[in-house]
Amino acid sequence: MADLGKKYCVYCLADVTNLRLRCTECQDIELCPECFSAGAEIGNHRRWHGYQLVDGGRFTLWGPEAEGGWTSREEQLLLDAIEQYGFGNWEDMAAHVGASRTPQEGMDHYVSMYVHGNLGKACIPDSIPNRVTDHTCPSGGPLSPSLTTPLPPLDISIAEQQQLGYMPLRDDYEIEYGQDAETLISGLSVNYDDDDVEIEMKRAHVDMYVRKLKERQRRKNIARDYNLVPAQEGEGKRQTGDGNRSDSRDSHCSGGGDQAQDHQGGEGAEA
Ligand SMILES: [Zn+2]
Ligand SMILES: [Zn+2]
Repeated sequence: MADLGKKYCVYCLADVTNLRLRCTECQDIELCPECFSAGAEIGNHRRWHGYQLVDGGRFTLWGPEAEGGWTSREEQLLLDAIEQYGFGNWEDMAAHVGASRTPQEGMDHYVSMYVHGNLGKACIPDSIPNRVTDHTCPSGGPLSPSLTTPLPPLDISIAEQQQLGYMPLRDDYEIEYGQDAETLISGLSVNYDDDDVEIEMKRAHVDMYVRKLKERQRRKNIARDYNLVPAQEGEGKRQTGDGNRSDSRDSHCSGGGDQAQDHQGGEGAEA
């Protein structure tokens, strides 16, 4: 006598307790997957009838349950957990599937059967397209590489350099940035009876002066980086031949005052 708890295919009498296809139009027509696939017809049942997949939950997709195969119920819980907790959250996945599986088992099963299995091969492209977009418009737009590399040297004559106030022999400018910056500290002196406020005020003045010097140097560096002035002192010497020297003297003299004397001294030292 047949076990009442078991179900059998009406066509081939195979045991379909774990997985069967039930006709939704006929009474008590349940087929095994093989007979259903072959289009088995019996009695009034026809192959185009609607059907329901009836899964006892013990059906295994890969390998028998006795050999560690996951039952369809476990597979479903695993996929639910992946969807709910995300790939990689194996602790929560294992708790969701139940006591039967460890996090490691869950990860191994999902990676080997789904990611590297036929499903993954069908769904995951071999080469994932690069989604990084290059926003550095190389045609001279903002952030383009051409803006961070030095410009080509300007073809600028000695006379033009002097118009800029540049003194090649001193590698210096006639009028510095923040020309009067030194007045910030020229009157400072340390007095032993200074109170805290006075000391802080003097420190602030020194700080302001240092900032001015830094900005002055920054501007010089820019002028050099972009070849507005000769990059090296030696180059400056080479470019200022004897013919130009008298010119530069003239311009220095016209500057007048103590600056002109400085220039003469500078030239004398180098000559
Ligand atoms: Zn069958
Ligand atoms: Zn039917």
